[in-house]
Amino acid sequence: MIHFSCDLCGQPLDDRRFEVRLEIVPTFNPEQISEDDLAEDNLQQVAEALQHAEESGNSAIPGSLQDPDDCSAKAFRYDLCPGCFARYAKDPLGRDALRRLNFSKN
Ligand SMILES: [Zn+2]
Repeated sequence: MIHFSCDLCGQPLDDRRFEVRLEIVPTFNPEQISEDDLAEDNLQQVAEALQHAEESGNSAIPGSLQDPDDCSAKAFRYDLCPGCFARYAKDPLGRDALRRLNFSKN
């Protein structure tokens, strides 16, 4: 028998298991690169950002430049306990958490 545990809090799950299936699908054709993407300005920006990251000793690439080509569809599957499910269902995108983070910065 397969034993599941909650992907959020880690507690073992019995029959009351909630499965979250997430699918992210581009609504455009990722294979079709627009001319804007190939514009020299963009390449220049990327090169400068990379160079800046190296100079500042920070190897982390700014989020917007991470995997610029990765537009492929993605699918995720999570198992949740009833408690985590209730919390997740209220705010699947974590917008409340983001808002709280923004508030704490101010
Ligand atoms: Zn849980």
